[in-house]
Amino acid sequence: MSPFNPGDLAVENVRTLAPYVPGKPIEELERELGISGVIKLASNENPFGPSPNALAAMHATLSDAWLYPDGSGHQLKHKLAAKLGVDVAQITLGNGSNDLLVLLAEAFLEPGLEAVYSRYAFAVYPNAVQATGATGVVVDALPEDSPMPLGHDLAAMQRAITDRTRVVFVANPNNPTGTYVEAHELHAFIKQVPSHAIIALDEAYFEYAGGLDIQNGIRWLDEFPNLVVLRTFSKAYGLAGLRVGYSVSHPSVADMLNRVRQAFNVSSVALAGATAALDDDAHVSASVKVAVTERVRVAEALRALDTPVLPSAGNFLMMKTGPQTRARFDALLRAGIIVRPLGNYQLPEHLRVTLGTVEQNDRFLAAWRTILIA
Ligand code: PMP
Repeated sequence: MSPFNPGDLAVENVRTLAPYVPGKPIEELERELGISGVIKLASNENPFGPSPNALAAMHATLSDAWLYPDGSGHQLKHKLAAKLGVDVAQITLGNGSNDLLVLLAEAFLEPGLEAVYSRYAFAVYPNAVQATGATGVVVDALPEDSPMPLGHDLAAMQRAITDRTRVVFVANPNNPTGTYVEAHELHAFIKQVPSHAIIALDEAYFEYAGGLDIQNGIRWLDEFPNLVVLRTFSKAYGLAGLRVGYSVSHPSVADMLNRVRQAFNVSSVALAGATAALDDDAHVSASVKVAVTERVRVAEALRALDTPVLPSAGNFLMMKTGPQTRARFDALLRAGIIVRPLGNYQLPEHLRVTLGTVEQNDRFLAAWRTILIA
């Protein structure tokens, strides 16, 4: 290969970007260790997979794969609008909600403008902002000894907003911490955000509230025209591999997102699968029920093993695993269990574990117990 690196011609904002670090795929670990039966609790996926309705609809659409998808996502948008009680013109579909985060940054940011987010907020926010050349304003999280350790400090975020702020990212609950702010606090915060800033309220884990006081931001859209709510089919709907998410916003914001969106950003198979998945509420609630029950059980079991766990409103737990985190992560891998290290979040002494089935969680807890004793 030529020693000349044409990649260096990329703009500085891109050259200095830290790439997103995804969870390790099951096949990769099985190949590396020559083992089978690996479980992945690393990417907050739904261990129960997609609804059979979604699977059937996806199969049925495969033979049409030679045709471009409906670029307007007509059927899915209409079904979502009816379900959510909003106008079709308020919905924008994305290649996962990740796509919408990037589109928001592209549409509302440029060099000289600012976006505000919490220090341990979802890693896509800083990347999406930096790629536009805008300034990411990182706000310190709540201290480790607070009731919501490492969670969003809304008061500090408020103070970080300036005349140049155009986007404020809030993940509620947040990934990777799992932490959350209660609905009334978030409402009071949004009320204070000036109208020149878009609030990107990321509700990727909305379905997992399970009795906790988590907002349904879509109900606040009439009150706050600058609010954008993001949701996804990747978590509770068990369709992470399909890549479908959506935003609900003021129609004028949807109009701008539509201008930067790729015309065919959601595939025909994905449109069909997501549309059919909306008919199977029972599948979503059954999956959520297990995650919510397991969230309490696994957290208690970990605490009983002296492993501190952060409060979580998602389908995952972040645990404080100490200076031996790397060795313990590797030991879990050798036991055939993939969890998520958080070095890229500057949290080298924490691990995040997705709540799997009861059996998977038991296997994780048994392995963790053995590792702690070793
Ligand atoms: N927001 C949050 C908080 C997430 O955790 C994730 C997935 N890890 C996403 C957005 C993006 O999910 P997707 O693109 O699969 O919809």
